Amino acid sequence: MKLWPRRPATAPERPRANPTRIAVLEHDLLGIPPEPGSMAALTIALRRTASCMEHDPVDTSTVSDSHPTALCAGCGRHMVQDSEGRWQVALQP
Ligand SMILES: [Zn+2]
Repeated sequence: MKLWPRRPATAPERPRANPTRIAVLEHDLLGIPPEPGSMAALTIALRRTASCMEHDPVDTSTVSDSHPTALCAGCGRHMVQDSEGRWQVALQP
């Protein structure tokens, strides 16, 4: 017999992925165009006008990659890790 109703247990809030970052990565990796007028479309359009002040690498390594690779979430440039684990802009061939 319940004397009073129990409150449902609340799950701890999990960090959510940034939807703008997801849309930008979908554009960069899969070629999916962002929704017109969205923050992702603005972010991609602003890349053409300026470069980012500080690169924000997002790891895009796959199992088949021999070394870690990433894309900068700000400017979209390809990045690689050096021997000490720091991200650097990859040199274009
Ligand atoms: Zn950048």
